[in-house]
Parts: sequence; C-alpha cells; structure tokens
Amino acid sequence: MSRVTTPPASQAIRPAVMLHSRPARVIASRVLVIALGVFAIGAPPAQAQSNPPPGWVNPFPAFRIIGPLYGVGMEDLSVFLITSDEGHILINTGLDDSIPYIRNNIESLGFRLEDVKIILTMQAHWDHTAAMAEIKELTGAEVWATPKDARVLEDGGFSDAHFGGRETFKPVAVDRVIRQDDVITLGDLVITVHEHPGHTEGSSSYTFQVNEAGRTYNVGIVNMGTINDGKHLVVNPTYDNVAVDFATTYNRQKQLDVDVWVSAHNAQYNMHDKYTPGQAYDPETFVDPAGYIRAIERLESAYLGVIADELDQ
Ligand SMILES: [Zn+2]
Repeated sequence: MSRVTTPPASQAIRPAVMLHSRPARVIASRVLVIALGVFAIGAPPAQAQSNPPPGWVNPFPAFRIIGPLYGVGMEDLSVFLITSDEGHILINTGLDDSIPYIRNNIESLGFRLEDVKIILTMQAHWDHTAAMAEIKELTGAEVWATPKDARVLEDGGFSDAHFGGRETFKPVAVDRVIRQDDVITLGDLVITVHEHPGHTEGSSSYTFQVNEAGRTYNVGIVNMGTINDGKHLVVNPTYDNVAVDFATTYNRQKQLDVDVWVSAHNAQYNMHDKYTPGQAYDPETFVDPAGYIRAIERLESAYLGVIADELDQ
C-alpha cells in the first residue's frame, strides 16, 4: 500500500536523519503511484487509505502530555508513548508511512523506539494499526490486544464488521489477550485495561495515575464511541449487539474518573486548542474532566440520532 499524498511543506524542516531512513523503493513507488495518478485524475480513490486526510500524514512534533505519557504520532493521528525505566509501551502505530515520524518523535524526547516492550491498540482500524507489524519486527515488542481486536489484527482487517476487507493492513500476531480490568505492569507503570466496544468490536481504553507536584491525576487514554458512516446499529446491524456495545461504552466511560484525557485522534480531545508546539510542559495542560463528559454525551446523542433515523426508515 503506497501513499499517493506528497509530503507536506512542513516536512522540509524535519531532520535529515528521518528523511534518509525512508527506503529508496518507497520513494520509487511513490513516484510510480503519482505518475499513474496523473492518468487517473477524476477517478475516486479505490480505498480511503490510499488517500488519507492531511491530518493523518502531516508530521507533528512530540509532546509531553503528563508524567510518563507522550504524544509521538501525526497531526491528527494519535500514537502514545508511556515510558518506564524498564522499557516503554506504545499505543497505536499510525499508517504504514508513519514509522519514520514516530521514530523521530521518540528520539527527539531522548528515548528509543527499540526500547518499546509492549504495543497496544485502541481500535483495530488501519489508520492506527498499519505500521504495527513492522514496528513489532523492529522492536521485538509484544502486541497485546482485546479478544476481538486481536482477531482483526491477526487477519489484517478482513474480519472487521464494518470495513471488513475494504480497508486492510499487514496482519500482526498478538502475543497476549487483555480484557476489562486487566492491569498491565511494566517497570513502575500500572495501567488498567477498559473494553469500550462499538467503534470496533474490540475497542479499548487505558487508565493510570500520575503523581506530580503533590497532586494525583487520573489519566485516560480513551477510545471514543464514534460511529463510522454507513454503520447500522439496530436495523440490519453491522454486527450482533453493536447497539448494546456502544451503550455499554458510553455508560462505562461516563463512570470513569478522568482528569486528563486523550483519544485516538487529536481532534477528539481538542488537542490543538489545548497545546501549541513549543509550549512549556505543565501537568495541568490537558486537565479537562468537563470536556471529557461533554464529548461522551455528544457521541451518545449522535448514537440515539442514528437509531432514531434507522427506525424512521
Ligand atoms: Zn476507527
């Protein structure tokens, strides 16, 4: 799968090391794809993944969210690094072209991609998983996932109830299955797993606490219950129980005690309103419990709207 998208202008200021790490054959295939594209002007893209939105491919400098949690992904594609002195956890991996950017972001913080020990996913959709197989290979890290995201990761997206086969990625073997309330420990990290199904059958979130400046912050890396266009909830449902899954997720998420929250796409937690590159680190920057509840309530009312529309047909 090659990106048609040409590198954005802002890439020009990226360090040379990152650009040099791009293999020549990728550049060659890009040129070929662009050349072919000239003859296909006007034709719709065969797959959304061959024409991703700019926010998924635009680089964004690494930033510290709170304590050991950092954003190391693209402008609107979240990849999270949680660091410990016994290795790191990486949550999401972006598109398959994202790897040099992720590596560069991790190194800019003084850490190494090779020290990632565990890779987690929030939702087994290609925009968050396409680079996972390669990052697993590069790092030797284990991939841990909920049962139903594990199934989709291992078949490269073919068994996804909604996109099944339309949007695929390189399959990746899952080393350990994780479930609701499991606790992941690595070094001094203690992270709780939350199953938040609906967006994908195996969508998941992660919570942990950070103590800083005499305060304890409850931190949530929360997969929001957004409903992809064309998904059916009650009439010919996209999968059995999808409506119940979303309702369960909204209820569980509203009960979580969250001070700082982030999501799979930066726009979902209004990251760009809260943080500008270069801004000094402050543990308060992403504290937003009211915004968190508002975001869930907005999604829940959208969900009720989709159901009402289906029943109205
Ligand atoms: Zn998704």
